[in-house]
Amino acid sequence: MPAGRAPAGGWRTATVAGLRRPIARSVELRFDVHDRVQHMAGQHYVVRLTAEDGYTAQRSYSVASAPGDPLVELFVERLDDGEVSPYLVDVVEPGDELEVRGPIGGWFVWDGVSPALLVGGGTGVVPLVAMVRHARDLGRLDLLRVAVSARTLAELPYADELVAAGALVVTTREANGIRPAARLTAMDLLPLWEEGQTAFVCGSAGFAEAASQLLVGLGIPPTSVRVEKFGPSALDSPGR
Ligand SMILES: Cc1cc2nc3c(=O)[nH]c(=O)nc-3n(C[C@H](O)[C@H](O)[C@H](O)COP(=O)(O)OP(=O)(O)OC[C@H]3O[C@@H](n4cnc5c(N)ncnc54)[C@H](O)[C@@H]3O)c2cc1C
Repeated sequence: MPAGRAPAGGWRTATVAGLRRPIARSVELRFDVHDRVQHMAGQHYVVRLTAEDGYTAQRSYSVASAPGDPLVELFVERLDDGEVSPYLVDVVEPGDELEVRGPIGGWFVWDGVSPALLVGGGTGVVPLVAMVRHARDLGRLDLLRVAVSARTLAELPYADELVAAGALVVTTREANGIRPAARLTAMDLLPLWEEGQTAFVCGSAGFAEAASQLLVGLGIPPTSVRVEKFGPSALDSPGR
């Protein structure tokens, strides 16, 4: 998918249609985005909060829902000292209206027809879940190989769906089945790699860097590895 072909939307009003809290310290928010531009799996939205005194803060959140879902689903993990995520996790209720901009992103998108290797850590699985859901809707789960890492299975967002899609799940703070607590290794990824795949790697800066190095170390061309890092970004700086 060449950059620039993915859809892009401007600011919209989004009404919270529903929410779930299947994992501690986080929320799945389902938005009805008015005049929504349909996203591609892998894209994200910016959510902007405005205080009564006019102060604004905006942050990026990947879309977890498939393009065909009539609602836009975001998964937000609370950072206790954060400005935006505690509000989204603890305060937002169904019926609330928020300002959002999206979909955004032209590089970290899966086209729904090409084979792909998805590698995610922690909340970095969120855009990969959109890809899995899209593949499932298309009846093409065979196109995807998935490896995900979390501290514990209970902390892995969308664990059931990922396991059902055949994901390799690595847990770093507890044993998972016969596998002891460990980080993702090159030997985990080697059997999942096939010629012609694009690799999508998403997670914290540390995870994304380490996982990309594993893939390139296996001989996968760097041009076939697309990376999304979930960290603070210039766009997300407050007051804009
Ligand atoms: C493209 C993109 C997609 C993203 N998708 C998701 C998503 O699906 N779900 C989700 O929960 N988050 C996602 N994020 C991260 C999100 O944008 C915010 O950075 C996060 O919610 C923290 O915002 P905050 O206002 O609560 O914390 P801030 O007030 O911005 O920061 C509080 C403290 O935490 C640190 N910090 C900020 N962000 C992170 C982070 N991501 N990891 C570790 N430390 C951090 C800051 O340096 C600071 O010390 C995404 C980021 C990007 C760039």
